[in-house]
Amino acid sequence: MNAFKGFVGNADTTERLSAMLSSGRVPHAFIFEGDKGTGRKTLATMLARGLACTGKDKPCGVCECCRITENPDIVTVLPEKSAITVDQIRAIRDEAYILPNQSEKRVFIIPDANLMNEQAQNALLKVFEEPPKSVAFILTCEYSGQLLSTVVSRAAVFKLSAPDVKTAVEYIENNYPDYDNVAVTDAVRSSSGNIGSALSVLSGGDKTDLTAREILAVMGGKSELSLLKALLVIEKDRPFAKAVLLKMNELVCDALAYKSGAKMPLPEDDVRVSLADKFTGEHLLGISSALLSAKGDCDSNCNGALMITNLCACIRTQIDL
Ligand SMILES: [Zn+2]
Repeated sequence: MNAFKGFVGNADTTERLSAMLSSGRVPHAFIFEGDKGTGRKTLATMLARGLACTGKDKPCGVCECCRITENPDIVTVLPEKSAITVDQIRAIRDEAYILPNQSEKRVFIIPDANLMNEQAQNALLKVFEEPPKSVAFILTCEYSGQLLSTVVSRAAVFKLSAPDVKTAVEYIENNYPDYDNVAVTDAVRSSSGNIGSALSVLSGGDKTDLTAREILAVMGGKSELSLLKALLVIEKDRPFAKAVLLKMNELVCDALAYKSGAKMPLPEDDVRVSLADKFTGEHLLGISSALLSAKGDCDSNCNGALMITNLCACIRTQIDL
């Protein structure tokens, strides 16, 4: 049974991973680096199932681990707000020394591992240095330079890239038959084969990104009235408002990382670069907390007009508009 059946492109990587699984000689830590939308998380899940399998030929398809959909021995570490904290890593470190319930290995998946700060990564390093036999870690990030070199050097790093346009079009047409063929081809071309981005364009997700960037660009202009006007587009549609606020927060956090010297290959005209130029680190943190609090307002069904007025006022006090 092929552990990576249905995974599109990146044949070199899936073949190497399959060979590792069948030989039983697997590293205790993997890093999947690549752009968002290249399937890093999908591949991490597939590999985790292979690692958990208790059969001989992994994945055997017949053992308990291969048959259940939710394996408690496969743990995904999600960020709390916008960071993976040292406390979260300490907790999984403790858990790592407990034997798995029913699987060959307990597998920890840390998607967006770059959301761990240095302290959290150093905590992870402790278990990387002397890993229990029954544990494996799978980290994903855009590029491994986002992580401490000490962490990277103790893991097997695999780089994922987008498949060619034809393969990506075929994949989307087979798996999402409702989308119009011409729209699929256009979306795939504009995303250079990146399936995740193409699906986001097809589902209107790019509107979220575009709106978030537009509002942040206005924020850089430091006029409260213009900011209030820009925010009107998210006043009436709560799910859209939530998605835009989260996207804005993600961009602001990136800007903060960029400002603090993180190596990120950003184009000069990227809104994150201009935010890093215009605001201090403290301002950016303040903006981030204002955005998350507005998202909280949306969660508690606060009136849209009130939410954007509050957000505007909050940002004014944070960055002295
Ligand atoms: Zn199995």
